[in-house]
Amino acid sequence: MFNSDLPGRSGPDACPGALQVHAAADGGLARVRIPGGAVTAGQLRAVAAAARELGSGVIELTSRANLQVRGLRLPPDACGGAERAPAEAPDFAARMAAAGLLPSATHERARNIVASPLAGRSAAGGRDVRPLVAELDRALCARPGLAELPGRFLFALDDGSGDVAALEADVTLRPVAAADESEAALLLAGADPGLRAPSGAETAGLLAVAEAFLAERAAQGSRAWRLRELADGPVRVAARAVQLEPRLRRSAARPPEAYAAETGAGGAVGVVGQPDGRVALAVLPPLGRLTPAQAEALAAAAGDGAGEVRVTPWRTVVVPDLTPADAGRWRARLAEAGLVADPASPWLGVTACAGRPGCAKSRADVHADIRAALGDPRPDADVSRDAVRSPTDAGRIPAHWAGCERRCGRPRGRVVDVVATTHGYRVEADGVSRAFPGAEQTSAAVAATREGL
Ligand code: SF4
Repeated sequence: MFNSDLPGRSGPDACPGALQVHAAADGGLARVRIPGGAVTAGQLRAVAAAARELGSGVIELTSRANLQVRGLRLPPDACGGAERAPAEAPDFAARMAAAGLLPSATHERARNIVASPLAGRSAAGGRDVRPLVAELDRALCARPGLAELPGRFLFALDDGSGDVAALEADVTLRPVAAADESEAALLLAGADPGLRAPSGAETAGLLAVAEAFLAERAAQGSRAWRLRELADGPVRVAARAVQLEPRLRRSAARPPEAYAAETGAGGAVGVVGQPDGRVALAVLPPLGRLTPAQAEALAAAAGDGAGEVRVTPWRTVVVPDLTPADAGRWRARLAEAGLVADPASPWLGVTACAGRPGCAKSRADVHADIRAALGDPRPDADVSRDAVRSPTDAGRIPAHWAGCERRCGRPRGRVVDVVATTHGYRVEADGVSRAFPGAEQTSAAVAATREGL
């Protein structure tokens, strides 16, 4: 049985968008695609204003580096159990369109593109894939047939650091070798089937893979959302892609170890040096949520107007191109605003599902429980420390709190699971499970488990 045959894959995916708003228990939930995680300061201010004036003031960062606004007010008939509420928040959509965040009504849910957050700014070098993000986004929206892509289909553009390649997107562009821009590998669902795109044909190659996925899906009579859900997906889709785009070339597949080990900044927080002498400042909004005031503070740090911030798939936000002195000042101000700027903070590596009141299935308000247990992040913000590469570099395993067994939003890999029960929480790690009656005892056990694994 394929995943696509399972009940959850029997219909179109239910990913929300800016036009197709999901009726959650706490109101409308709208997702705004920001390809490559890049958003200008002006756009971030527009999202903050919409969240404050039309919603509940919660802006979520997603694992695909998009933005989500919660609590949008919907007409009465859109709530009360209706699962979907298409186009029920026209004011929100109009604001996003005016800010340039909704360039295509037909393709908005297909614009799922992640990119290495420090591409073009990394002291480690690598390929600057940012221009390819904009090119891919434009070309994707210009192909009518690709509006049929499931909202789960993901493009990734890796600068060679391996950070977004590790996400195993449906199709990933990754340099075959550092400092070689003559050709790039197209990895399918994380595997290398030997598909290569020469310089100048990267975007055409990525789109050929997307079209090949749709064709193979139809040939298999499947409603798969992801390439890995197709039978022999990478091999069959690669074979179709070279027929659709003749500039693609077949080569010997390389094993994963043939690619450089991951060197990207991942979920780092703190100050990261750029090759031009400037620095990038990365901060973590606790539990992946920004208030409008925090979003506005980030916009101000980026210099307002056309200044840019980059949302990462690890739910951090990077402000590039600062002088070291400005980075120090903004680091302190953003920490004061409640954003985590200390790489040793206990908030690093802690994620959670929506929980109550956003999800009717939740047994607990997991966000409130975590905040009560971990406290305000501000007192922990030691702004003097340098950045670390990821939470696990600090010797801690990520912990994911969930309001029920579905564990929505759980990160990949080794994780300490914290699942709400009718009597508290259950902590699971490496096959060992223990129950705790309250959030505080749970949090202490989670902290110990994260260190001790
Ligand atoms: S894990 Fe459960 S409680 Fe949390 S968002 Fe998913 S369905 Fe809701």
